[in-house]
Amino acid sequence: MTEAHAGFAPTGACWICGGERLRPVTRAIFEFSAYAQQDPELARYTGATVEIVRCRGCGFAQPAALPSLPDYFERMYDQRWSDEWMEAEFRDGTKDLIFREVVARLSDRVPARRRTLLDLGAHVGRLIQLAAEAGWRAEGVELNPRTSAYAARATGLPVHRADLRDLEAQGRRYAAVTLIDVLEHIPRPVEALLGVKRVLEPGGWIAVKVPHGPHQLMKERIRGRVVPGYRPTVADNLVHVSHFTAGSLRMALERAGYVDVSITTAAPVLPPPGQGAARAGRVAVRRGMTAAARVLPFGVRTPLAMNLQAYARAFV
Ligand SMILES: [Zn+2]
Repeated sequence: MTEAHAGFAPTGACWICGGERLRPVTRAIFEFSAYAQQDPELARYTGATVEIVRCRGCGFAQPAALPSLPDYFERMYDQRWSDEWMEAEFRDGTKDLIFREVVARLSDRVPARRRTLLDLGAHVGRLIQLAAEAGWRAEGVELNPRTSAYAARATGLPVHRADLRDLEAQGRRYAAVTLIDVLEHIPRPVEALLGVKRVLEPGGWIAVKVPHGPHQLMKERIRGRVVPGYRPTVADNLVHVSHFTAGSLRMALERAGYVDVSITTAAPVLPPPGQGAARAGRVAVRRGMTAAARVLPFGVRTPLAMNLQAYARAFV
């Protein structure tokens, strides 16, 4: 007999606007059989499902319930990456277009003598490396012990394994804080955005990049129809818990007390090198979609916008 998992706790009202009219849009499936030895309690969730529900008020979507297992997210992300994998992540530069653009747009906003940057969820350190090359004093926060150590080694820059309260207590403040592909992994994102202000200088800038929730789901559904045997997935294992639209991302930033919010279509992720002409074609398609979404009126609301890029300033 298999033992029962630790259960679920309902998330209640919309995490962004507090609305209570939420309707199911898809279902997340849990598959943790690979964790049977490492974490049997986590592995027991294998086969469970939870609905992803979208708020009629603001368009944001979230899980209807979260696993009650203590430290669920830390345990799910307790992955022991190999050195080869981390080196490839650093070297392949699949997010370089996004990182370079974020650094450039922040450089437009912050004078040269004040350029200090903290990258939350710094992963293998690629963004802080590019920021340092562009003249910023860049640091990272990365809680995973392996990627954190790798990032420090690869960049020679400070990479903290600490939470924002610790950095605040140490008196660390930054002119810019970046969250690139981070906020979609965090429940109750308004609280997370409020927390960022602990380490922002007064009037400092935040840059946030997230997937566009409904457009990613639409893409997955199209792929599910076209590719035999493919099951659309945007949230399995609750890897993504916060699914934003342009409007709900704006509202999240404003509710957390940010001003001068601007939201655009984010630069695309690039496929890893080494696929020849097929890669060149995919690069051209992604760059073309981004460019089109940026020139069209309300382009960020069209399905061309697969990812959202926001900039906002901490209210002084
Ligand atoms: Zn809402």
